[in-house]
Amino acid sequence: MKYIDEFRDPKLAASLLADIHARMPDRPPDNPLKLMEVCGGHTHAIHRAGLPSLLPDALELVHGPGCPVCVTPTGRIDDAVVLASEEKSILCTFGDAARAPGSKGSLLDAKATGADVRVVYSPLDALALAETHPDREVVFFAVGFETTAPAVAATIVRARRQGIPNFSVLSNHVLVVPGLKAILARPGSKLEGFIGPGHVSCTIGSEPYRFIPEEHGLPIVISGFEPLDLLQALLMLLDQLTQGRCEVENQYQRAVQPHGNPTAKAIISQVFTARPHFAWRGLGPVPGGGLRLRDEFAAFDAEERFSLPGKSVPDPKACRCGEVLVGAKKPWECGAFATRCTPENPLGACMVSSEGACAASYAYEHRRQVSWEKATG
Ligand code: SF4
Repeated sequence: MKYIDEFRDPKLAASLLADIHARMPDRPPDNPLKLMEVCGGHTHAIHRAGLPSLLPDALELVHGPGCPVCVTPTGRIDDAVVLASEEKSILCTFGDAARAPGSKGSLLDAKATGADVRVVYSPLDALALAETHPDREVVFFAVGFETTAPAVAATIVRARRQGIPNFSVLSNHVLVVPGLKAILARPGSKLEGFIGPGHVSCTIGSEPYRFIPEEHGLPIVISGFEPLDLLQALLMLLDQLTQGRCEVENQYQRAVQPHGNPTAKAIISQVFTARPHFAWRGLGPVPGGGLRLRDEFAAFDAEERFSLPGKSVPDPKACRCGEVLVGAKKPWECGAFATRCTPENPLGACMVSSEGACAASYAYEHRRQVSWEKATG
């Protein structure tokens, strides 16, 4: 297949769905088959295509922690707000991260009160700002998995090569394998398989997931983002489960190689090293779960250059993002969902990000339900 509409072919989708229903093992409603989609991009793709209503009732898709803005804890947003509020600084970040709520507001709230916060499309845009504003300190607030870390690393290498002294990065990069290990270490996990992340796997490949079948006896299928990709990945998972196999399989072969992208991996390890621990919302301190700049790049490390509060700050009591991110709660089970918390006025990060589970439920399920209720009176 070559064109995007071929990956949305309704006849092929119907055929895959029939196979999924035929292969679904018998399960009572109170003991559904729980499969986790790790990636927030998958969560949105699944809801956008309306897949939950088409799948067997006893097959439950559980959202995972694969939204980097959502897992970034409140204290790190607060650090960025402090940096943005410095008189000489320009704080740059991607759009989602600028809207994520900190304990005293988001970066966009800080901008509204006078801080110089700029939304950029690339870390190179932030570097260009540093070049054109030599009298200012330009900090890039970096949030993301292995997907965005290579571009940030390449920007830091360029900043060093060009000798740009007023550019630095506040790294909140997280790593997917430690996050999955933390999910699997949670007591009472009833997960029986994973839809593996697509974009991260383009960088790291399929090999790093071998611990899931080998140490936990669970299957994982890396998937693309179109409806037929996801349906085929679900069918591959059901095939493994019904045939008593557990393996790493790769549905997304048009993008993901077994060993990933060597150039991207090389530049990540040239610039970054794993932290001993990094706090994820919902999972707490994850061993090896985040990246910091290596010592040889300390001149570009905002944590080395500036004094930051670095505090651990709890989420608002009403917000259940921590439970949503580990699949323990559905977005609509949070009392604030679609009332106190909406995309226009988010209480938690999961409602902000284009990869957040609450934003997906609000955009595709809640609105659909509201339109249906209006239409039927
Ligand atoms: Fe957090 Fe809002 Fe989601 Fe509730 S609905 S879990 S407050 S983001």
